[in-house]
Amino acid sequence: MHEEKELEVKLAIRDPEVARRVLTSHGFEYEDTCLEVDIYYAHPCRDFVKTDEALRFRTRKCNASSHYAVSYKGPRERGITGLKIRTELEIVVDELAWTTLRSIMEKLGFKPIAEFAKMRELYKAPRMKATLDTLFGVGFFLEVELDRMEDVTKLNDLLGKIERNTAISTIDKTYLEICLETGKCRPRVE
Ligand code: ATP
Ligand code: CA
Repeated sequence: MHEEKELEVKLAIRDPEVARRVLTSHGFEYEDTCLEVDIYYAHPCRDFVKTDEALRFRTRKCNASSHYAVSYKGPRERGITGLKIRTELEIVVDELAWTTLRSIMEKLGFKPIAEFAKMRELYKAPRMKATLDTLFGVGFFLEVELDRMEDVTKLNDLLGKIERNTAISTIDKTYLEICLETGKCRPRVE
């Protein structure tokens, strides 16, 4: 089976405007702004908290495009400091397939355990992606994703700049964990 590894860093930040400027000065181009709503499921007999896995149904509605996606996230692997590495399998499907697959999972005993929304600005640079995220009820975050481990020096350069200017801290937690722990996330924008 083909497995995709996701390599990413998440930072809590103070000021999205500062992060925007740093991204742009490092060759990132703004692509789109999206409202993402994620629904995470619990397995009927396997504890995803213990196994550090996740099953997620996502809607992403952007200014320029939209999609429905279903993802499996595997357990975090040991990465260099701050870098999260995990298997990510994702399919993008149409709305009917997305809704039907949710019904199939629910009939099989999977239970929705959390639903929350964030506003996401998407940025792109060669072999790198970044998102500037507003997690409603919680705060601002920046994520940077690498296609290849070889670009880690470029990433560190960018992160150094962010850290000096607007970062609060590097976050090892997923948004799901942040939402479950704080209890402050919201399923939609009011
Ligand atoms: P977690 O806290 O578990 O990381 P998350 O909500 O950040 O949760 P991800 O799967 O990391 O979930 O979401 C980031 C997604 O956004 C990835 O699939 C990534 O490839 C995609 N992405 C990031 N930047 C862009 C971009 N510029 N264009 C399109 N997709 C992007
Ligand atoms: Ca992420």
